[in-house]
Amino acid sequence: METPASLLPPGAGRYAPSPSGDLHLGNLRTAVAAWVLARDSGRSFRMRVDDLDAARARPGVAERQLADLAAIGLDWDGEIMWQSARSHAYAAAADQLADQSLVYECYCSRREIAEAPQAPHSPPGAYPGTCRDLPEAERERRRSALGPGRVPALRLRATVDELTITDLVQGHYTGIVDDVVLRRGDGVWAYNLAVVVDDAEQGVDQVVRGEDLLSSTPRQVHLADLLGLPHPQYVHVPLAVNAAGQRLAKRDGAVTLADLAQEGTTTRAAIARIVASLGGPEGADSIEALRGVVTAESLRSGPWVVA
Ligand code: GLU
Repeated sequence: METPASLLPPGAGRYAPSPSGDLHLGNLRTAVAAWVLARDSGRSFRMRVDDLDAARARPGVAERQLADLAAIGLDWDGEIMWQSARSHAYAAAADQLADQSLVYECYCSRREIAEAPQAPHSPPGAYPGTCRDLPEAERERRRSALGPGRVPALRLRATVDELTITDLVQGHYTGIVDDVVLRRGDGVWAYNLAVVVDDAEQGVDQVVRGEDLLSSTPRQVHLADLLGLPHPQYVHVPLAVNAAGQRLAKRDGAVTLADLAQEGTTTRAAIARIVASLGGPEGADSIEALRGVVTAESLRSGPWVVA
């Protein structure tokens, strides 16, 4: 029986897979770390499927990801949140920002952005602000020049250009805050907006996720500030890498539960590898063995080399 969301204790951790392919050992390990830190701190644990781009979602992938998470022993509270069903919430948040004059239309293609000269003080990689202050006549012209099926993207008029966040594993991190996309030119709501809106909606106050998302965090914190939402605690977990030190990927061989099963490795054996990688007792094949073992401190030991 699922616990109704209204009966959950305050505070939650979460895991939020994007259904782009099967989860590999590194993804599963991050999910386990998120689960242990939430449960050990008395938080509930929520699940969300980041299927914003429903048109591109491959059928059955999210279901397999959820089945794999359950197979390694994760449990979660309340209903699963599916981002594809939450456009109304993202539109409401964009409206709230627009009411504060913090949203503008952007007509730039990726190429135009890459080729645009950087504004003198903007950090490398930041949106150069091409469409920030266009006169209305120019907006009209560029709007009518958009190709079929395109709408103007919506961008945030950011009010700072960098921000320092505190992460329990990484310490203080200062990163770019630029005019992030809120809605893309194909009408799909952007990840950075959705994640902030959804974490607040699910009562998430502890975000444990891969280190690859650290650089997006200042943008998300700025969005939360402008929307009047609380900041969660952040724990960015070092990634799993292959023997060459590159981020673990499908090409590295048997790295998903399905691949491992094919070569005769049981799910229990896969769990044991994850448990050992997180500092649990050798040979323990239940994630319960990690209760009290995984901490922000223990996660500082660097990447997990999956060889
Ligand atoms: N869905 C994102 C991913 O799989 C993670 C989002 C998050 O944890 O904030 O990369």
